[in-house]
Amino acid sequence: MAGGYLGKILNVELSAGSLTTEALDETVAREYIGGYGVGARLLYDRVAAGVDPLGPDNILGFMTGPLTGTPALIGSRFVVFGKSPKTHTWGDANCGGHFGPHLKFAGFDGVLLSGIADKPVYLFINEGRAELRDAAHLWGKNVAQLEETLKAEHGKDIQIASIGTAGEQRSLMSCIITDGGRAAGRSGLGAVMGAKKLKAVVVSGALKVPVADEEGLNALRREYLDQPGGFYSSLRDYGTCAGTASAARSGDSPVRNWGGAGPVDFPRERAEKISDDSVVALQKRRYGCWRCPISCGGWVRVGEGKYALSATEDSIGHKPEYETLWALGTNLLNDNLKSIVKANEICDQYGLDTISVGATIAFAMECYEQGVISTQETGGLALTWGNDEAIVALAGQIARREGFGDVLADGVKVAAQKIGRGAERYAIHVCGEELPGHDPRFIPALATTYLMDATPGRHTQGGAWPPPGIKVRGTKMKYVYEGQAKDHYKIMTSMHVVNAAGLCMFGYLVYHLELIPKQLTAVTGWDCSLDDLWEIGKRIGTMRHVFNLREGHNPLTRNVPRRMVGEPPLQEGRLKGITIDYETMRRELLELLDWDVHTTIPSEESIRRLGMEFLLQDLPNFHVPVV
Ligand code: SF4
Repeated sequence: MAGGYLGKILNVELSAGSLTTEALDETVAREYIGGYGVGARLLYDRVAAGVDPLGPDNILGFMTGPLTGTPALIGSRFVVFGKSPKTHTWGDANCGGHFGPHLKFAGFDGVLLSGIADKPVYLFINEGRAELRDAAHLWGKNVAQLEETLKAEHGKDIQIASIGTAGEQRSLMSCIITDGGRAAGRSGLGAVMGAKKLKAVVVSGALKVPVADEEGLNALRREYLDQPGGFYSSLRDYGTCAGTASAARSGDSPVRNWGGAGPVDFPRERAEKISDDSVVALQKRRYGCWRCPISCGGWVRVGEGKYALSATEDSIGHKPEYETLWALGTNLLNDNLKSIVKANEICDQYGLDTISVGATIAFAMECYEQGVISTQETGGLALTWGNDEAIVALAGQIARREGFGDVLADGVKVAAQKIGRGAERYAIHVCGEELPGHDPRFIPALATTYLMDATPGRHTQGGAWPPPGIKVRGTKMKYVYEGQAKDHYKIMTSMHVVNAAGLCMFGYLVYHLELIPKQLTAVTGWDCSLDDLWEIGKRIGTMRHVFNLREGHNPLTRNVPRRMVGEPPLQEGRLKGITIDYETMRRELLELLDWDVHTTIPSEESIRRLGMEFLLQDLPNFHVPVV
């Protein structure tokens, strides 16, 4: 087996309680690298079309990449994947922290879990040995209590990926948490884990990840450590909270449930209260994922007052990321930072995606403003914009499925269906996934990403933010819709490689792109060029997409939130008058990929070019709507 891999996947069939070890096929590893690349390839063979995402036949996977847990720069990540119960498409979520590397130190590149346990269990993996253990004493616990209990039982060196009670209750906004608050956040995969009655995966061990050229890899690390680019210093000094205020000003951050205009509805002096220095003022110490030289995370403390943190004795919690500050702040016109930190703690502890929770509260606030709901439905909560007490209270109700929180606990699409009375007008989502905090009216190419990536409504899959080493047309051309596909393709394809290799997107934005093939060559021993990686990225993108096609999902049929594309355009603010021509961008991307512009089915030739002939017999059998 090539370097970077332990060469083993653990298969766990929860209904039978059986565990088997499978050799990782080196050809699959070479063609799909790892992470969601290998994940999509394996699940295509193992998960039949049409399975219930919350049923026994869905597979929940945890997969590292070859760079995870090696001295490679920013090699700390793993990906969780499966069919999403939220969008009924391919679902995945990338996560940092320490779990990914330690899964490899425990002896496996990945774990695939099928079936449903007959009682709550957790999976314990220790240096190649694995067993299912009774989780009766853990079920009902939230993340901090669970981590404390498991560390008391197994020692403090274990790493844990777990669900809070939101996942147990199958909230479609639930996620999987590591390190007390780092989330594999999107696609509702916490609900899949909860449905399987799997409370946690616990890993322990000190096995070494083999590296083909250790000396060369260490030399690369030293060389590139000295030449960070991109927004390294702002990430190091602030984390992703840097720029929350400027994003509200520029129009990057949607405000008022995507219906408002940043500088008008959430002016500078308010936005600065939840950004940059204001956030860092609460920070007690910085925090990084495994061996990350950037360390963009942090621990904040709120020890007193109505928003005092309570999950730990010392009132410490994770520093909110940009997306959290946007979702629970900017988009709700909430400038009370401590309330955001508190709501973030609730989400971390119960295991909820902060983007979705914030977006769902925004939806509820607009329903309240428009008279679709009143205090009768909300149990007395006045859901007025910026009402920080109501935001924290509602986040708690959502987390516990309590009162009106139960109506909202599965996100805006389900909530709008439950409420009726025209509420769907205010539900901003694509295929059930709430949109993140980057507005296509400001970065038009993101419309393509939200509408076309295999995971609907995802902002980290291309369309924006090229790393050093990828040249794009530049922001002056961003509203020229023709000719965007080439740039989109490059960023999208490189992101597939990042997610497959075990890398972090922020690190990818800091170090030159050429570092990826160099590190992969040093770790695996394969000769990886940038050209090879473009091909692999395209293959991975095709694999995720074909998973959806087999489900009968044509992304051209996705709902398009009108506000997202400026229909009608805003009447004020920086984005005044802008309407996005997403159809041109979408069509040109399909043409570039050589996918049919009506069905999105890849051409036979494109499949052959990527060496994916195994798909050719399946493609004619897909029942995909023609648009
Ligand atoms: S840049 Fe931040 S998110 Fe990425 S690996 Fe480093 S600490 Fe983790």
